[in-house]
Amino acid sequence: MSILTTLTRAWLTRSFKPFRFTNTYDNTFDYKNTRNLGLYVHIPFCRTLCDFCPYCKYVYDKDIANQYIEALLKEIDMVGRATQEDKKQVTSLYFGGGTPALLAYDIKRIIERINKYFIITEGIGIELHPYDVTEEKLSLLKNAGVTKISIGIQSFQKEYQKLLGRQEFDCIAMLESLKKVPFETVSMDFIFALPNQTVETLKKDIEFAFANGANHIALYPFIDFTFTKRNFNKMSNGDKKKLLYEIVDYCHQKGYARDSIWTFSKHGTSKYSSMTRDNFLGFGCSATTLLEGQFKINTFDVKEYGQRIDNGILPTALTLHFTRKQRKVYYLFWSAYTMKVNPKDFHGFFGESLERNYGFEIWLSKILGFVKKENGQYTMTTKGSYYYHYYEHFYTLSYIDSLWHLMKNEALPTELVIR
Ligand code: SF4
Repeated sequence: MSILTTLTRAWLTRSFKPFRFTNTYDNTFDYKNTRNLGLYVHIPFCRTLCDFCPYCKYVYDKDIANQYIEALLKEIDMVGRATQEDKKQVTSLYFGGGTPALLAYDIKRIIERINKYFIITEGIGIELHPYDVTEEKLSLLKNAGVTKISIGIQSFQKEYQKLLGRQEFDCIAMLESLKKVPFETVSMDFIFALPNQTVETLKKDIEFAFANGANHIALYPFIDFTFTKRNFNKMSNGDKKKLLYEIVDYCHQKGYARDSIWTFSKHGTSKYSSMTRDNFLGFGCSATTLLEGQFKINTFDVKEYGQRIDNGILPTALTLHFTRKQRKVYYLFWSAYTMKVNPKDFHGFFGESLERNYGFEIWLSKILGFVKKENGQYTMTTKGSYYYHYYEHFYTLSYIDSLWHLMKNEALPTELVIR
């Protein structure tokens, strides 16, 4: 598996140079002229912890959560100061976790602090646990400026909720609240590739979601991280492939737009996507920042996070300084996730022609039926999207698994080399 990712990376970057993360870090970032910049805030607290979940999360404790919010506001000040007098225009702000709405009363304060330095042009999104979809919390969030919500349903089917260790929730009450407090984008997240799951069960979830307030859905494959627990058998790659094709086919027939590898929406919906930004600044434990020359990740340790901030130091644990070729591959990987790569955008970012850099790979992808050129941009075909999904799976297990595994075990590791 890692041979595949190593060879692909070596081929695309024209080098066997590994991705080397070190504990060096910057205490200021110059992002004033960075285009297409997004913001992300991580709130790592949950009521209970789900076994399958790979994210940085802690069981909620009022005092720890309060201290965390104070540290988070300071981190925003430390990074935001670089904007000086002029506010910086950013595309979006997303809150992820954890269960950010557990701290719904603090979300307004965080948004106000962000607004001191940044102008958000495409809205504010937040992830919600079904328990938090109440009229009171939705109103609080809406009044704070939230425009998009994403509800982690995982499955409406009781047998799968049980399998994933999720407690039942009052679906009727949740849907009533959604009707009372509307948002521009209401996304619902589901997991596919669970044991014996068929397209028929998934169709029920998709239809139920779209008929009950969702205008966007995300269907993520179950990913078996080395550090998470699983008490069921994995679906075979063949069955997973068949299922993905059936889902895509079904959504296509129903007229839902596929706006990324794993997301679908009703036409005209503003999508919910915290991942696909050319550049972003991340705040909070485990949050990542991606800029033109570097990728950095904050410590996963909530105590260390607070201590670093108290000492006036950004909570960066590891930084990867990209070579230009590595940055191009990183850019293309996430652009391809949206099923489209626009040569003009590539040129705008790197000042170089996409075709001159990757002419052979584009030619080969066309021959293999993975991409086609439409209206001046490269669009991924369903066949191409399956191979991307397969590769993303490898990438997640080879790269993200190693990184998160280390970060969960060490608050401030010295180095990580991914070959
Ligand atoms: S799945 Fe959601 S609720 Fe469960 S531990 Fe992860 S972040 Fe928390």
